[in-house]
Amino acid sequence: MKPYIPTAFDFDPDESGHFGKFGGRYVPETLMPALIELETTYKKYRFDPEFWAEINALHTHYVGRPSPLYKAENISDEIGAHVYLKREDLNHTGAHKVNNTIAQGILAKRMGKTKVIAETGAGQHGVATATIAALMGLECEVFMGAKDVERQKLNVFRMKLLGAKVHAVESGSKTLKDAMNDAIRHWVTNARDTFYIIGTAAGPHPYPLMVRDFQGIISYEAKAQILKQHGTLPDYVLACIGGGSNALGMFSHFIDEEKTQCIGIEAGGKGLESGEHGASLALGKPGILHGQLSYLLQTDEGQIEEAYSISAGLDYPGIGPEHAYLMEKGKVVYDSVTDDEAMDAFVWLSREEGIVPAFESAHAIAYLKKMPKEDIKDKTIIISLSGRGDKDMIQAMELLKL
Ligand SMILES: *Cc1c(COP(=O)(O)O)cnc(C)c1O
Repeated sequence: MKPYIPTAFDFDPDESGHFGKFGGRYVPETLMPALIELETTYKKYRFDPEFWAEINALHTHYVGRPSPLYKAENISDEIGAHVYLKREDLNHTGAHKVNNTIAQGILAKRMGKTKVIAETGAGQHGVATATIAALMGLECEVFMGAKDVERQKLNVFRMKLLGAKVHAVESGSKTLKDAMNDAIRHWVTNARDTFYIIGTAAGPHPYPLMVRDFQGIISYEAKAQILKQHGTLPDYVLACIGGGSNALGMFSHFIDEEKTQCIGIEAGGKGLESGEHGASLALGKPGILHGQLSYLLQTDEGQIEEAYSISAGLDYPGIGPEHAYLMEKGKVVYDSVTDDEAMDAFVWLSREEGIVPAFESAHAIAYLKKMPKEDIKDKTIIISLSGRGDKDMIQAMELLKL
């Protein structure tokens, strides 16, 4: 496989960072110099072979890429389709997030920054950032809602072990959106020596584009792998959606293929009608959060509503702006599965294939069972297995009476 370098797609944002009307850079004036510095730097390196050679070397020898494309024979037999899993769960640190933190870390070094900061919800992005900070000799501070600090003790300890400082954010709902607010606030006053590593394809331009490029290696590999292993392009590509980075990584090289339909799966929580869910595309409205215009869960007055999902990685009240655009253009289809359906799939994949998925990834697996049998008969399906379930064991133990 030739080393990965991003591709410019016709669904790239325009010069001002807009995907159609979505995206952009709705930030305080004081943040603009930092964003412009980042944009200029990324423009310089986006297609630079040396920059990518440095990323690819770490992706190969540190992360363990390419991740396997594994044909799940047992669930394939059961549902009558050819199901392949893109094994991002096998990456170092256990999920797709490290693909992005490595690349942003290298960018930070090239910009001469000595510190990195990150926001985190469940702690997965915090751990992936603390990991590369340790590797690259960068100081690391992670912003995390106080409620999440309490809920995710293991990841908090892991970050500290890796040498990061963790700030418990006490404002608002004390969760991810508040952590991101504080990270942005910190960055405004410390941008001179500090790089802000955002964990998903959201935030002000150029983050959504940058993170999508960095995760694009997932579909770049998967496309070559499926052609080699199966001889055809897939009919369907599935991925779960929090902010949308593993999905954009999994979709980008397939979106323009006529044969392939990409489907993004949002968190249906306790059911869309219950009001407790993370389905910003299904039930949100366009609005501005964290510097971007995109779909948001909000009240009629424009106050952000709390998202809910059994999986901490999916309960973000917004969504990366590229997904809002792809939905409006009809290029990608979006749907949701509930907590209960995801938990069934969590057990199903564990028992059928001996693979314990992250709760987030279990949402994409669960969707297999929601697709009409006649539609998927003998079809080829790739699913992004975005992460492994080790981080969810304690919660699973409390939920499942085995
Ligand atoms: C963080 C996370 C997600 C959700 O984030 P996206 O940016 O939507 O990909 C999904 N799966 C796992 C395993 C995660 O850690």
